[in-house]
Amino acid sequence: MAHCLVTGGAGFIGSHLVETLLARGDSVTVLDNLSTGRGDNLSHLSQHPRLQIVTGSITDQPLLSEVVREAEVIYHLAAAVGVRLVADDPVRTIETNIYPTELLLRLAAQRNCRFFLASTSEVYGKNPKERWNEDDDLQFGSTTHPRWAYGCSKAIDEFLALAYHTKFGLPVVIGRFFNVVGPRQVGHYGMVVPRFLDAALAGDPLFVYDDGGQTRCFAHVREVVDCVVGLTALPSACGRVYNIGSDHPITIRGLAEEVLRLTGSRSPIEYRAYAEAYGRDFEDVRRRVPNLERLEATLGRKPRLTLPEILSDILKWRLGEARPVT
Ligand code: UDP
Repeated sequence: MAHCLVTGGAGFIGSHLVETLLARGDSVTVLDNLSTGRGDNLSHLSQHPRLQIVTGSITDQPLLSEVVREAEVIYHLAAAVGVRLVADDPVRTIETNIYPTELLLRLAAQRNCRFFLASTSEVYGKNPKERWNEDDDLQFGSTTHPRWAYGCSKAIDEFLALAYHTKFGLPVVIGRFFNVVGPRQVGHYGMVVPRFLDAALAGDPLFVYDDGGQTRCFAHVREVVDCVVGLTALPSACGRVYNIGSDHPITIRGLAEEVLRLTGSRSPIEYRAYAEAYGRDFEDVRRRVPNLERLEATLGRKPRLTLPEILSDILKWRLGEARPVT
């Protein structure tokens, strides 16, 4: 069994990844500064004999060198995430997402660690294609729209990771996540599913931005994590980029209706302009659907849970959680 380093391991996706790695017998070191991650996400595992949690920033170079020392596999998930946070603070986004990734890749190359880089469907920008293939063009908007800082910063990470693979033979796998949802995700950073569920359960309005005709595909975090661990272990995945998510699109209006149906809530749906939610310079992505053929061809599977199944699972967690999510 391997010794794994998970940066961002206290985050929503990271904490599920840590759970999976421990369950299969790996030892795990988590590095997280608890900025968007929550200590609570790992509290049920804090006494686990094969888990070490280090609270600190990936921008702390000596600390990064220290935590890499034991690692055989690195899952690099730490990043500035969430459209709202990114729109609010593009400087932080760039600083957190680029320099530490380069350092981590360099340290990994010195030890020839297997390396998973968490990237994002944001790298496709607003490419108008029906379904996005990994080799499609990246189509960002102008630099005056802060939203694109996130996708651009992750695209640089991908360039770096691929270059380390080509130049130093680093066994790197890049996963582009598409709207990952599930238990422990919170709505503070703009994510639509927890926001709609919270509003529906509280009897508050569900705010749908624009006309609600924009489309997304929502994947359950457990299935996504299963793909991450599977791909990282496969030599045939090295040096490649993978879309990871669901390929079943739904409009945001449809999502709001589904949330109301499942919760039995009588909350109203209200429409808001993007400018009200994110500020004047905001640009959204109208349609975002992955082509998952590469993932399926390499791994032999892809996320399959349907939206009602996923929402029911989140709802179960939400209703079972005694503590308020703060
Ligand atoms: N959205 C919405 N209401 C909200 C939060 C988000 O209508 O309270 C919309 C948002 O404008 C986007 C979609 O839902 O079109 C998905 O947003 P999210 O931030 O979850 O992910 P994104 O796909 O934008 O990264």
